[in-house]
Amino acid sequence: MPDRYYSSEPIEGPAVTLRDNEAHHLLHVMRAKPGFELVVFDGNGGEFAAVVAACQRSTVELSVGERQDIERELPFELTLAVSLPKGDRLRWLLEKCVELGVTRFLPLHTTRSIGNSSGGSKKEPGAKLARYVIEASKQCGRNRLMEIANPIAWPALLTETNYMRHLLAHPGGQPLAEINCQTNKGNDLLLVVGPEGGFTDEEVSQAVGAGWEVVSLGERILRIETAALALVSAITLH
Ligand code: SAH
Repeated sequence: MPDRYYSSEPIEGPAVTLRDNEAHHLLHVMRAKPGFELVVFDGNGGEFAAVVAACQRSTVELSVGERQDIERELPFELTLAVSLPKGDRLRWLLEKCVELGVTRFLPLHTTRSIGNSSGGSKKEPGAKLARYVIEASKQCGRNRLMEIANPIAWPALLTETNYMRHLLAHPGGQPLAEINCQTNKGNDLLLVVGPEGGFTDEEVSQAVGAGWEVVSLGERILRIETAALALVSAITLH
């Protein structure tokens, strides 16, 4: 796959300007000169072959070719609601979710969640996380960015009705192997993973009451990111 760059500006015409990290990488890491060939995408689907037309001090002008309607998305929408792990573990989780095709990443606050549920720094909430998503998309070839939704609290999540199916990971649930993981196009799914302290009995019974499936991922207690990735992989690779 050729080097891929992300344009924060929608690509609409025959030229686009790359700025910030993307321009920095081209100018100072790749030492690109006019004529350098690359692929550019704007996160709204499709990608474009492009050529460096001009290099400025901190921006790079690209001359953009035809749009290629290449999508590397799942055939259904997959939302992962998850209590956020900290630091590098969150970064790792986000990256892997992008690679596996998660459509929407929903930070979840439950009774036993601790700390800030947005995962962003105080100064620029979300900017760091968005950057992880862009980097992972460049690497894995996704042309649509995984959405990082605003954090949601458990009671509000329970009332979300946009999904055909809801799977909640909880030790002692029904073994995943006994569950039909087959998904069809348009069959949007919500996967839910709890905090290190787990879901409370009340939360689990509320989920059951709402018709959600409570699934076990084996006999061992997994960390948040392992549980999330195991569940996402089981669903996406079927
Ligand atoms: N101490 C908690 C475990 C928390 S692990 C407890 O015993 O419930 C963090 C989250 O990962 C859990 O809330 C659950 O969503 C998921 N998880 C971890 N291990 C799991 C397993 N074996 N089966 C299903 N879900 C699991």
